[in-house]
Amino acid sequence: MSDATIIDGKATAASVTDEISARAARLVEATGVKPGLAVVLVGEDPASQVYVKSKGKMAQKCGFHSVQHTLPADASEIDILSLVTELNNDPEIHGILVQLPLPKHVDEGKVLQLIKPEKDVDGFHPVNVGLLGAGQTEKALVPCTPAGSVLLAKRAAGGNLSGMNAVVVGRSNIVGKPVAQLLLQENCTVTIAHSRTKDLEGVIGGADLLVAAVGRPEMIKSDWIKKGAIVIDVGINRIPAPEKGEGKTRLVGDVDFASASKVAGSITPVPGGVGPMTIAMLMANTLTAARRQQNLPDEAPLF
Ligand code: NDP
Repeated sequence: MSDATIIDGKATAASVTDEISARAARLVEATGVKPGLAVVLVGEDPASQVYVKSKGKMAQKCGFHSVQHTLPADASEIDILSLVTELNNDPEIHGILVQLPLPKHVDEGKVLQLIKPEKDVDGFHPVNVGLLGAGQTEKALVPCTPAGSVLLAKRAAGGNLSGMNAVVVGRSNIVGKPVAQLLLQENCTVTIAHSRTKDLEGVIGGADLLVAAVGRPEMIKSDWIKKGAIVIDVGINRIPAPEKGEGKTRLVGDVDFASASKVAGSITPVPGGVGPMTIAMLMANTLTAARRQQNLPDEAPLF
């Protein structure tokens, strides 16, 4: 049996950020406007600190104006809302990202809804959720991980997903649902599976394109997968790796990669698949936001 093509998310993300850097440079040359991204971090969660740092670094690499605001874990909701208002009104900032999760005493929904929809580069504001749901992707800012997942799938399919049977496992607001909506836009026939789905194996077996966004290590087995299918694994799960030494861990996806890569036509690895695409698409959204705020048309879709 032939092995699947491994979809290289790192290389694709690098080509996306190269393209965004070039487009940003052209925007600066034509208008003098530098795309501006503000990232807000509340508290000292180590994972969030790492994410925020890499977002800021990538924004600088793309030639953006990049600022980070760090508030203490006990910052009041009013402090956070005031900062968002300030950033909403700052003409140098085109994209605002509030790193989640926020501390328990803060109403996350309230904060996210205060961000101006046109600056909501995470795509979580109800206006952007609604635009995506209505199929108006040309007006929406689309969540980054779903956009990156679909871009990888499209590339793996040679540019056209039309007519494919797509199965998305997972229905969260941040991954599963927006992925399904994007795939519908790409003219796939979409099934959304979740924890109450009957005969998950059978449903997955019909998929030409499978997107796994569950959060359960290696749950999806190779014999569930249709031969030649495109498999996009969004899951990031940390599991013990005693073979690397005592107390060591490693990352795996929701799909059993070792065996699935013998059946699938193409498949994303974990790490190195969807993961790197999230930041790349954040850069793309920031540039789109900056152009729209200058009343400039969007550039050609990334592919
Ligand atoms: P959630 O926990 O919010 O959603 C998980 C979904 O999986 C739910 O819809 C749930 O169903 C479904 N599910 C759970 N168990 C089963 C099962 N046994 N069979 C079928 N469906 C099941 O997770 P997220 O959407 O936030 O994240 C999913 C994964 O993606 C995680 O591993 C996360 O770490 C990763 N991720 C990666 C990102 C990146 O690459 N940058 C970004 C965001 C997430 P139900 O609704 O019925 O409970």
